[in-house]
Amino acid sequence: MKLFAIFGDPVSHSRSPLMHNSVFKNLGYKACYTRVHLKDGSKLKETFFNLKLSGANVTVPHKEAAFEACDEVRGFAKKVGVVNTLINENGRLIGYNTDADGFIYAIKEFGKINNVLIIGAGGTAKALASRFIQDDIKVSVLNRGSSRLKYFTNITKRCYTWEDFQTKKYDLVVNTTSAGLTDDELPAPKEIIDDILNNTSFVADVIYGKLTPFLKLADEKNITYKDGADMLLGQGVLANKLFVNKELKTKQIKHFMRNSFSL
Ligand code: NDP
Repeated sequence: MKLFAIFGDPVSHSRSPLMHNSVFKNLGYKACYTRVHLKDGSKLKETFFNLKLSGANVTVPHKEAAFEACDEVRGFAKKVGVVNTLINENGRLIGYNTDADGFIYAIKEFGKINNVLIIGAGGTAKALASRFIQDDIKVSVLNRGSSRLKYFTNITKRCYTWEDFQTKKYDLVVNTTSAGLTDDELPAPKEIIDDILNNTSFVADVIYGKLTPFLKLADEKNITYKDGADMLLGQGVLANKLFVNKELKTKQIKHFMRNSFSL
């Protein structure tokens, strides 16, 4: 029996155990997926091996710590320095990022996007910004503080804090902050958010399972929006494929993961 887990703080909101266990159970794969509330990101590697995990996912706020913890980082994660999926490969910790492709999958229904505003400058924002730039999409980033904007100034000229932000027209605005996850906060002061929402065609939040204050406001303004559920599905399918080492079919993984959303 293989054991998998998700690490985060908070982690009790995570639907990943339900999603992955649904796949394992329905497809007869001998594995179990649990959650680990980890406060100190520097203990990630030690905890992973102490628990004898075969693989794991990493959520807020440890994705950058996960990158540091890896013996080897592969694919897109290497480019962005952010890891959300860990694999135990013969005692070596291998890191991947499935968030960015999961998000691209989620916004397909919005059609062609040329100009995006990302609110937040954490691990998820890094992954999405780099993925958008790879696809030649114009990226602006808005964060409450300037220290985490440093990474973004190397990839786009349009980096702002609440103090120097000036709204432009966007095709899509994405909230990647954890504002609204366990509180009722907007990701920036109300007047800034109002202005942003009045100048965008589509809105997305990476938070799932609830209507965040940000999405509530978008809804009140009749803007087409979506929460993070499809991103969760997209990144989960890709992570599961890494966990089972391609032994299960993508179509089946997706089917049982999607079914778990109604549990
Ligand atoms: P990080 O901790 O790396 O970054 C959080 C960011 O949010 C930082 O920029 C921080 O700003 C900002 N922030 C936090 N609280 C507030 C607030 N009250 N107001 C304004 N800004 C705030 O987190 P992650 O990038 O790992 O995760 C962010 C969110 O994305 C989480 O809610 C997570 O659950 C969700 N997520 C969802 C996924 C899905 O599949 N749907 C996948 C991945 C993540 P500062 O720099 O000033 O501290």
